[in-house]
Amino acid sequence: MGRYLQGMKLRTCGRLDFKPSALGFGAMRLPTIGDDPANIDTPKAEAMIRYALDHGVNYIDTAYAYHGGASETFLGKLLQGADRHRAKIATKLPAWKVETADDFDRVFDEQLTRLDRDAVDFYLLHALNEKSWTKLRDLGVLPWAERQMAHGRIAHLGFSFHDKLHVFKDIVNAYEGWSLCQIQYNYVDVEHQAGRAGLHYAAQRGLGVVIMEPLRGGQLAKEPPPQVATLWNEADRPWSHVAWSLHWLWDQAEVSLVLSGMSNLAQVKENVVEAGRSGPGILTDEERALLARIREAFRAQRPVPCTGCGYCLPCPSGVAIPRVFEQYNNAVVFDDLRRGKLGYRMMDASKRADRCTACQACEAQCPQGITVSSWMPKIHDHLATE
Ligand code: SF4
Ligand code: SF4
Repeated sequence: MGRYLQGMKLRTCGRLDFKPSALGFGAMRLPTIGDDPANIDTPKAEAMIRYALDHGVNYIDTAYAYHGGASETFLGKLLQGADRHRAKIATKLPAWKVETADDFDRVFDEQLTRLDRDAVDFYLLHALNEKSWTKLRDLGVLPWAERQMAHGRIAHLGFSFHDKLHVFKDIVNAYEGWSLCQIQYNYVDVEHQAGRAGLHYAAQRGLGVVIMEPLRGGQLAKEPPPQVATLWNEADRPWSHVAWSLHWLWDQAEVSLVLSGMSNLAQVKENVVEAGRSGPGILTDEERALLARIREAFRAQRPVPCTGCGYCLPCPSGVAIPRVFEQYNNAVVFDDLRRGKLGYRMMDASKRADRCTACQACEAQCPQGITVSSWMPKIHDHLATE
């Protein structure tokens, strides 16, 4: 590691002495041959990773589930010999594969085999929410992980996260040994899940904070709606939407590194250039204010003015009302029906809009005056159809 650091900016990672590159490589959207995610286009993916390593990227993020398991195997084959130590490897424990305490060893051994390593640098509990965290904790994941660390099989423990802020704080506070956490954060979603408050909360407690989905799965790289595009004309720097999204994150000192799930070499090259000129404090107050106005302009495009306040809950039929609206609003605002449908399908079936009986109990509680019962069938039709 460190042979080709010219240009790449290094940052801090909580209380660790590891200095991560501003840009981390997310190995979950590698190029494939055909539609099978497990069929990674090895020459193209290799070229991307080698370019990133040669330009100072020192953190590669994978997971048991990425590319149907092929991401770990691909990295295991690629990073041999001297290349093994050029980047830290982070992989993740799939909570959904764990039913008993014996599964920790079984899954982890499989991952080490795929990665062709005796140890991983960072091991994250994947996509924690209240339910999965409770399950793993009660099965003894922390003492299990401490045993692995004592035996040198895991260097540092962390978690990635998708739930509400209070759950995030509970998890941070549940264990003093976390080295880092991974959260979804971008200039549009500052109060979503852990959000900005979670970033600061974790950083103040000495955790490194890895950012995922800096472009909202590519949505922020697309041409925005006209009302948002008008605001972008006020920006003085000739940066792309991708560059603005990344620099908004790197501008914040609490961010340890930004993961980008890159799909081609051009994206790697662009991100490497931006990372090389990144740094905390790079944006002016006017630029930060402009991005806040752009965030509000995106919000103003939502067809349903749901703020996510949750006053309408609990629904007697179990509908996760704000979550349903969130999926629908995002699909419309970002013109991304595919992702909206995917998010809706991933919801527990007992919480979807078709459970609504039109009792209207929620509507009296809604400060926005939303006619929830009239929206639910429309949204279900929109998001549930193939
Ligand atoms: S109207 Fe529908 S969403 Fe609202 S409380 Fe009744 S069943 Fe739940
Ligand atoms: S009360 Fe209204 S604004 Fe608040 S989450 Fe429910 S639907 Fe959304």
